[in-house]
Amino acid sequence: MGEFELIDRYFRRDGAPSPQVPLGIGDDCALLAPAPGMQLAVSSDLLVEGRHFLSTADPRRLGHKALAVNLSDLAACGARPMAFTLALALPSADEAWLAGFAQGMFALADEHGCELAGGDTTRGPLAICITVFGEVPAGATIRRNGAREGDDLWASGTLGDARLSLEAFRGTLSLPAPLFEQTRLRMEMPQPRVALGQALRGIATAAIDVSDGLLGDVGHVLRASGVGATIEAREAIALLAARVNARPGDLPDDAAQLDCVLAGGDDYELAFTAPPSAREAVLEAALNSGTAVTRIGRIEAAPGIRVLDADGRAITRRFASFDHFA
Ligand code: ADP
Ligand code: MG
Repeated sequence: MGEFELIDRYFRRDGAPSPQVPLGIGDDCALLAPAPGMQLAVSSDLLVEGRHFLSTADPRRLGHKALAVNLSDLAACGARPMAFTLALALPSADEAWLAGFAQGMFALADEHGCELAGGDTTRGPLAICITVFGEVPAGATIRRNGAREGDDLWASGTLGDARLSLEAFRGTLSLPAPLFEQTRLRMEMPQPRVALGQALRGIATAAIDVSDGLLGDVGHVLRASGVGATIEAREAIALLAARVNARPGDLPDDAAQLDCVLAGGDDYELAFTAPPSAREAVLEAALNSGTAVTRIGRIEAAPGIRVLDADGRAITRRFASFDHFA
């Protein structure tokens, strides 16, 4: 199977050109047509085998995740997905792998009305680079630099389960089979919070998607905004979904669970800030987009992040699940 046959078979789809992508796969460039008054939001992520995913990863789930991590960036900016490009390096034209990968990728793309508009295909060690294009009303992009003293700090969905699963894969802990499957789904099939991101336009003062761990990613928002934050450990630890179905002894201790939530990574949830006066509006945006949100802390003038225990005392140890599970 040649390069062009591969593209035709797995990536080119029949159908009339759409208004948002008047020219798609098959020419030297694709054309995108954002609606009048909209700006293009663009983001790329590169996934490399061995670094971002295991060679044993199910191709369907990998196709999903490769697009999901990009859509998550659009979500954080409040943009509506329009199109994406796919640059692929493949060691061989493995048809079962390509079929599964395309299926997982297109299922998520169709869910969000996001069209594959082009790409590049080459032989090489397995690597997947997707660039997404979204549109957002000019001036309405949710940026990292808008958090203000007194704002609430919110998180969407659940946090830490992906890290729990990774540690189970690594063998540093063991989970009962149902919990392992539940957390594994969070690691391999993250759900980008695209609807929530758009619903938060005009409400959130700043936002970021949590890919490297909550503390690190919130830290980017704080530095960009010139503020600091306090996070309540009790609110944060409750975001670990595995706690809901766990029986005593199923999970590592509370400190390790908190590490997964605060420093885990691969969650692809949104962390965002909004003034207390906007609490009703935030909850309504969450309801309308079918995504849970939790208030986990507040923005303060003093730089840095403080984590408080249930008694309001600062937890002083370092949060790094690598240390903890080492
Ligand atoms: P060029 O040589 O002009 O860069 P290519 O021959 O690489 O173009 O690709 C031919 C067409 O197929 C282009 O429209 C390109 O965008 C598209 N394409 C190539 N690889 C992929 C891919 N992995 N997914 C989607 N479209 C692709
Ligand atoms: Mg080319």
